[in-house]
Amino acid sequence: MLSNNKPKKILIVGGGTAGWMAANLLACKWQDTDITLVESKDIGIIGVGEGSTPHLKLFFDAIDVADAQWMPRCNATYKNGITFDKWSTVKGYESYFHPFAAQTDDVFTVPLFFKNIQARKQGYNVNAHPDNYFLETYLSRNHLGPLPAESFPFGIAYGYHFDSALLGQFLAEHAQSKGVTRIEGKVTDVLVSNNQVNNNGNLSAVKLSDGTLLEADFFIDCSGFNGLLIQQTLNVGYQSFKDNLFNDAAVVMPTKLSDVLPVETKSTALSNGWAWQIPLRNRFGHGYVYSSDYINANQAETELRQHLGLLESDVEARHLKMKVGRVEKHWHKNCLAVGLSQGFIEPLEATAIALSFNTIAQFMQYFQQGQFTNQHEDAFNQDINSRFDGIRDYIVCHYKANQRTDSQYWRDNAANYNISDTLRHILHLWQHSHDFAGDMHKYKLMGSYQPKSWACMLAGYGVFPKANMDQSIDYSSHQQELEALSDFIRRCGMNFKSHRDLLVGID
Ligand SMILES: Cc1cc2nc3c(=O)[nH]c(=O)nc-3n(C[C@H](O)[C@H](O)[C@H](O)COP(=O)(O)OP(=O)(O)OC[C@H]3O[C@@H](n4cnc5c(N)ncnc54)[C@H](O)[C@@H]3O)c2cc1C
Repeated sequence: MLSNNKPKKILIVGGGTAGWMAANLLACKWQDTDITLVESKDIGIIGVGEGSTPHLKLFFDAIDVADAQWMPRCNATYKNGITFDKWSTVKGYESYFHPFAAQTDDVFTVPLFFKNIQARKQGYNVNAHPDNYFLETYLSRNHLGPLPAESFPFGIAYGYHFDSALLGQFLAEHAQSKGVTRIEGKVTDVLVSNNQVNNNGNLSAVKLSDGTLLEADFFIDCSGFNGLLIQQTLNVGYQSFKDNLFNDAAVVMPTKLSDVLPVETKSTALSNGWAWQIPLRNRFGHGYVYSSDYINANQAETELRQHLGLLESDVEARHLKMKVGRVEKHWHKNCLAVGLSQGFIEPLEATAIALSFNTIAQFMQYFQQGQFTNQHEDAFNQDINSRFDGIRDYIVCHYKANQRTDSQYWRDNAANYNISDTLRHILHLWQHSHDFAGDMHKYKLMGSYQPKSWACMLAGYGVFPKANMDQSIDYSSHQQELEALSDFIRRCGMNFKSHRDLLVGID
């Protein structure tokens, strides 16, 4: 049931990916609301962020846009998951693939994975490396895209790689075609209600540098790291994650595409952080995410060039600073923060777009359920905070569990005890529980990542409790089961096209 409280006019400040995602969702779902977006060409957008989780598909489904409509326009490719290289130094575990959670074929693969992890933890000499257990790993290793033939009875969750500037342009055009008004201008002042009738501290308008006043009933802050409305005007507190996520800077540059088009992001650990490789249709995107406490921008750029074989090349590098953490309240008074203005967790699992989508979609539900009042503001903020914290814990674990000793950065990360109680509990269960997945459910530790993802990471690093590896214990059936699974996966794989053919099919 709708009420008269529904905002008649919503103003979005900021036209990066977050602002245009919000504009599209609002325009699609609340068609009777006047939606305006103001952005400043002079300030521009951050213009990085080229990988997604399956949430980007959920977003496009929600606004009824098919892959074929947006992917060719944004040089986009498919993503089956992420390969992590050199994060662990345990022999045989120098690399592993992390597929997305909740694939429908998991019902045939995950039980054996957990069974063999448990056996491995008890000391049986069983192969529990995650790369043996998942169809998406097979697809990636064979450069096969994630869309199966119609006759294949399982669904595959997939993400995308894309050119973020082109994605922004596509979303801007699409939102405007649905009635969103775009205004070009720089916000210089944000006005708060403080008259006698309406002294509620709500935002009332923003003023542009040319004096234009833009009034609205509700405001969405998508102004990037500065958080112009939520942080600078409404003074909502900010919680930094710097204590447990050390990285605060990145250097990015492109390279030419290889003959083979990968279907995965690659994340390679370097001396003081990690480098991504993201395949687009026309180039690879690369970036080195590092901590400026351990290495300076020049050193980082040189190391990235070395890693890419570009020491002699004049290809230009872009340097960026990152503010890692989150606001304490994402919705406060008549303002919702979305995107970098609400917070950012470093891009190891490419979760920023997912968080933006969840923030807007959840907000619309909570707001509507509360008859467009602030009734559910606290519940909403708790919900979004726990999503941020859950992702943070998962990312922190990559550093905490690292096995490298080659630099102070990696040693400090492994020795860092500034971790949440939740992460401590999960690591305890990994070492001691006889039913890791069951206990994660039992103790309500199912935050943003499923037990499958945690197990992929920890087994992928080769982090098993020290046990007596007794090879004499008869566990011969395991080899047969693994061979059967491998055959199952191979035959599933016959239903998928090469990544390149798949892309040609949607052009
Ligand atoms: C190194 C790095 C790698 C990343 N990788 C990924 C990734 O792989 N996947 C992923 O999902 N995300 C990634 N991200 C995050 C991603 O870039 C952002 O979440 C996404 O681009 C959304 O940004 P935004 O729209 O919040 O902010 P921005 O792009 O910064 O947009 C801010 C907008 O606000 C406007 N603005 C600001 N101040 C004013 C003003 N005073 N007046 C008018 N307009 C104003 C600007 O003009 C702009 O339009 C990465 C980020 C970094 C730093």
